[in-house]
Amino acid sequence: MSLWLSNVDDDLTPRAPLESDLDVDVAIVGAGYTGLWTAYYLTEIQPSVRVAILEAEFAGYGASGRNGGWCSALFPQSLSALSHRYGQSAALSVHRALQSTVDEVGRVASVEGIDCHYAKGGTIVLVRNQAQWTRARAAVAETPGLSLLGAAEARAICGATSVLGATYTPDCAAIHPARLVRGLARVVARRGVRIYEGTRATYLTRGAVHTAHARVRAPIVVRATEGYTARLPGYRRALAPIYSLMTATEPLPAAAWDAIGLRRRETFSDYRHLIIYGQRTADDRLAFGGRGAPYHLGSAVRPSFDRVPAVHRSLADTVRELFPVLGDVAFTHTWGGPLGVARDWAASVGLSGGLAWAGGYVGDGVGTSNLAGRTLAHLITATDSELTRLPWVGHRSRRWEPEPARWLAINAALRVMAHADTVEARTGRPSQQAAALHRLLGN
Ligand SMILES: Cc1cc2nc3c(=O)[nH]c(=O)nc-3n(C[C@H](O)[C@H](O)[C@H](O)COP(=O)(O)OP(=O)(O)OC[C@H]3O[C@@H](n4cnc5c(N)ncnc54)[C@H](O)[C@@H]3O)c2cc1C
Repeated sequence: MSLWLSNVDDDLTPRAPLESDLDVDVAIVGAGYTGLWTAYYLTEIQPSVRVAILEAEFAGYGASGRNGGWCSALFPQSLSALSHRYGQSAALSVHRALQSTVDEVGRVASVEGIDCHYAKGGTIVLVRNQAQWTRARAAVAETPGLSLLGAAEARAICGATSVLGATYTPDCAAIHPARLVRGLARVVARRGVRIYEGTRATYLTRGAVHTAHARVRAPIVVRATEGYTARLPGYRRALAPIYSLMTATEPLPAAAWDAIGLRRRETFSDYRHLIIYGQRTADDRLAFGGRGAPYHLGSAVRPSFDRVPAVHRSLADTVRELFPVLGDVAFTHTWGGPLGVARDWAASVGLSGGLAWAGGYVGDGVGTSNLAGRTLAHLITATDSELTRLPWVGHRSRRWEPEPARWLAINAALRVMAHADTVEARTGRPSQQAAALHRLLGN
């Protein structure tokens, strides 16, 4: 269990499974943020709409109950990659939509009484060697609202070691992710949305979702299965599940927080290639995560993959190196989960021939899934809006390579990123290999 699911404000008792055939207007597969936000906005627009959500485990079982709690305006593709593909104005429209999404999540949480510990303190991304400066300056040049901080300003926010500077954006809230997803499930259930837990969809067809025991007929079927998508027949090469792992400390004393800072619960990271991310929780723990866990052959997803002792040790070492004040503080929780990654690294949302989908958020799904849910609700109800004209709507990535090429390529890319960080820390020069890889990935 993630830290978040272990201390969430309900007991996770599963709702009843689907026992017999059902007819509804919209059938959603997956009760994470994507499925639940879609149901939420559908019922806003059409209170009488009949919606059923089928969830293999329980609401929030997936990444939505396990993530780093950055509700940000980040998108898997950089603004320059989006501009290159769609033009600058379209790219900026995605960025603006995501900026307002951060506030929208806070607004709904407040209106619906979901206490998800929302604190909009922004994000600080530290610069900790000369090579990282190059990426920080490039990010500031292309991103509206992102500012460059000198060493003293940066350290005043986040008292990590080796800080040369940082970038700061106000567009991020730290949240308790499981409180948000469990709260959303309660809200939509109160509105009459039927959530069937312990109910795995075995395959999807136009007009129906099939399970081992029953079938849900619906003119609109929504696939909201993100990192678990590859298990569904017909979608095995759609999204690769890449694992992100996390750890959390016990609550830290005030003296430790005096040294670390993060007084407004700013989320934090640095400009290394192999991503790390952290937040100060509402109960004063450090929750910290990163990539580096292996990709598994055949896009396999198993609970045993959530824990990789070497990666969890390395995360604890990294956070101790950032904040030596942690000393021998206990790490009380370790967990992980799969992200959904499209072959072209592009998130997308769409509706075609009665089948709707959203996903491919990589590590940026907390905010993006809200935008996706609103957009899907507009597409399904044929509501004309700016959201349905955003360039990610209807985008389709090419499929991943068949195995074992996919396994070889993804794990090689992870190794290149880790190696590039080591070389950059030693030489201070930006890694050409990593830059080439980013270009290849289109981000
Ligand atoms: C460790 C970690 C840290 C992360 N940190 C951040 C972060 O800080 N900020 C950020 O923006 N993003 C982060 N992410 C990504 C973010 O959590 C996800 O993008 C987001 O939660 C995706 O929501 P979702 O509803 O699409 O998918 P999920 O939450 O994964 O939900 C999919 C659901 O579908 C169910 N399901 C799958 N297949 C079936 C089936 N066949 N039948 C029925 N049900 C099915 C699953 O059980 C699951 O509950 C992180 C992810 C991880 C794993």
